[in-house]
Parts: sequence; C-alpha cells; structure tokens
Amino acid sequence: MSAASQDFHVMVIGAGSTGAATAHDLALRGFRVTVVERGEVASGTTGRNHCLLHSGARYAVNDPTAAQECIEENLVLRRIMAGGLELNDGLMVAVDERDEAFEPAFLQGCAAAGIPARPLTARQALALEPNLNPAIRGAVRVPDGVFEPFRFCLHFLATAQANGAAIKTYSEVVEIERGPGAIKGVAVRDTRTGKVEHIGADIVINAAGPWSGKVAALAGCDVPVLPTAGVMVSIPQRLSRMVINRLCLPGDGDIIVPQRLTSLLGTSSWPVDGADAIDIPAGHVQRMLDLTAQMLPAVKSCPPRGVWAAARPLIGSARLGDGRGLSRTFECFDHAREGLPGFLTITGGKTVTARVMAEKVVDLVCARTGVAAACRTREVPLRSYREFYR
Ligand SMILES: Cc1cc2nc3c(=O)[nH]c(=O)nc-3n(C[C@H](O)[C@H](O)[C@H](O)COP(=O)(O)OP(=O)(O)OC[C@H]3O[C@@H](n4cnc5c(N)ncnc54)[C@H](O)[C@@H]3O)c2cc1C
Repeated sequence: MSAASQDFHVMVIGAGSTGAATAHDLALRGFRVTVVERGEVASGTTGRNHCLLHSGARYAVNDPTAAQECIEENLVLRRIMAGGLELNDGLMVAVDERDEAFEPAFLQGCAAAGIPARPLTARQALALEPNLNPAIRGAVRVPDGVFEPFRFCLHFLATAQANGAAIKTYSEVVEIERGPGAIKGVAVRDTRTGKVEHIGADIVINAAGPWSGKVAALAGCDVPVLPTAGVMVSIPQRLSRMVINRLCLPGDGDIIVPQRLTSLLGTSSWPVDGADAIDIPAGHVQRMLDLTAQMLPAVKSCPPRGVWAAARPLIGSARLGDGRGLSRTFECFDHAREGLPGFLTITGGKTVTARVMAEKVVDLVCARTGVAAACRTREVPLRSYREFYR
C-alpha cells in the first residue's frame, strides 16, 4: 500500500519559477507544502530575465536536450497558462552571409527537436516586421512567445495556494536543521523584523536558483551551480511585434523581446562569484545596443530606460570560459548520497522549463516517501495570477 501524501510536509526554498512550479506540483499531488522566499515572489533571476517563452530554436544546434525541453514545455504552457502568454512567434533573422550559411544546420536542429520552423524570404520577414534592418538576407519563423515573470510565478502559486500551500515571502532560510540521519526542518528569518522561526519539514527542496549552492552549503551539501550573469537593457518602446533573434549560435546581443511597453535587449554571459549585487562590466550595455541594432536599427534612436543584470543557475563542475558552453538543461540532486535523506535540490534549466523541473523533483519526493501519486501538471489548467492576492 502506498503512503499518503498529506502525511508529509514539504518545504520549498525559493519562489522563482522553479519553486513556484514545484509548489504547484506538490500541492496537486496532495502534499502539505510551505514555500519560503527571502524576498518577493520572482525577486531572484526569474524577475529579471528576458521574458522569452523559448521555442527552443535558440538551442537547436548546440544544445539539443535544452531545445527539446523548451519546445515541449512551450506547448504545455500554451495549454495550462493560456491567459498569461503573448503568443506572437519569433523571427530568427539572418543579418549577414554567416547567418545565412547557418540556416541549413538550424533547420535540421529544429526538425530533430520537433520545433516548427518556416523559412521566409527577406521581403516576407520585412512585411511582418517593417523595423527590421532592410539589408537582412532572410529569416525563419518559430513559435517563440513572451511571458511576464512575476505573473508566470503567480499563476503557479495561486493554484498551489488554492490546493492548500502556504507561501511565506520575506522569509530567508538561515539554517537547515538535521535530525539523526534525516532532515528536521529549517530556521527562517523574517527579513523585515529579524525574528527567527523554526519550521519542521519531512522533505526540504532547495529551489534557490543561482543561490542553490549557498543554500545547499547550509546543510553541508554541495551543488555544482555556477552563477553566470547576463545583462539586460530595456528600451521604452515596442520596436517589433514578434520576438527577434539572430540566426546564429547563442551569443551576445542576439535577442530582442517586446515585453509589455518595452523592448528587452540581451544578453551577455560572464561567470560571477555570487548572484547578489552583480557589477556590469564596462562596455556590455553599449555592446547590447550595437549588436541588437544590426537586427533592428531603431534601437539606436531610443535611449535605454533601464539596465540590470541577473545570474543564470548553470550546472557545471568547472568554470568554462564565459559559460556559453554550459547546457541550459537542469538537474535534480538527491543529498541522501551526502548523508542527508529528505534534502533535494532542483536547479539549472529555464523559466520555460520550470514545470518539467518540478515534475522531476516531485517524482523523486514520491519515490523517497513511498507516495504513489502521478504528475498531473501537464493537463491541469493554472488559475489566474490575479487569484494569488485574493
Ligand atoms: C539574463 C538572463 C536572461 C534569461 N532569459 C530567460 C528567458 O528569456 N526565458 C527563460 O525561460 N529563461 C531565461 N533565463 C533563465 C531563467 O531566468 C532562470 O533559469 C530561472 O529564472 C531560474 O529560476 P529559479 O526559480 O531556479 O531561480 P530564481 O528565480 O533565482 O529563484 C530563486 C529564489 O530563491 C530565493 N532565495 C535564495 N536564497 C534563499 C534563502 N536562503 N531563503 C529563501 N529564499 C532564498 C531568491 O530570493 C529567489 O527568489 C534567463 C536568465 C538570465 C540570467
């Protein structure tokens, strides 16, 4: 006979996209759930990202696993979060001969990953997006889209809450408490009052993104996460209707996302020691403006409204240059192998892949607790983000 999920209290550390999706999956399978987040919902990397609902096309050639994860989850999110997405598609634009020469490998990669990709002539692309550089040599249309990161998390959390989850913001985990051979709970500090509270838990899931190495270290465990920063530049105008990507291997300044009333230009990649207070290296902002203007020249005539940086939680055992060589896939770590059963970490990935990341870690929770509850997050529609504050 399988164990009952409501007999287990599961603590999720972090309310970014990974923690939010994990809380939803756990609550849907009947676990008692508490989410603790040291700041506001999505106040980590999720709230500062590029907002691109990846089709996976960007990774089709160099990172096929991530490409496949992205397209699968893109299609799932269209079903379960229909009201929360802008489904405007993307154009992968060939600016020069090198981009044009990349097209056959790109189309092959898309076909292998199952990403619909339709080649367009330059004239067809310019008819769709008149602000594109008139000298482009062609483009490929892919099913990219746009999300709003805060609301993305609220969709998951509103649903988790409706299924009984408690979400505690401004609550920083300062200690992971061990009992004899198992996790006991966490000590949480209210970041506004300084008061420390002890919360018992049978399972603790570390979903602290680029901070997951730091959180794991609180329990004496190791997670090989490499915080790798990227700069974002926001222009106070929508310069395109669709997402604009450069038709090339992922590199600097090759994406423009129309997001709410802005265009988001990005990004770059450099390893950082921590994910707090990231200093943007000289030249990165100008480089974003110069490179994205090769696709949309109007970028040059709009002074930026905002500039910020965030760190990707990339998984790697050693520093690999600027981090571009590291996969955008994710991994689940069971710290039982470090002598702490009941402590798990889920990290890496993308906001777009948050649901499947959650599925994997909650499958592991079920295996470790003996609970037989299948994942249903592929089918169950999420509640509106508006319901979170009801
Ligand atoms: C520049 C850039 C652009 C990107 N663009 C995209 C994109 O367009 N599309 C996409 O899908 N992905 C994108 N990504 C990747 C994506 O943003 C991340 O993979 C994703 O946001 C990670 O989510 P997370 O929940 O794991 O981490 P986070 O969002 O960082 O969440 C972790 C949370 O843990 C909290 N926390 C940390 N320590 C503690 C503690 N001790 N106690 C309690 N809480 C704690 C933090 O406050 C934070 O809110 C981008 C990443 C970067 C850097």
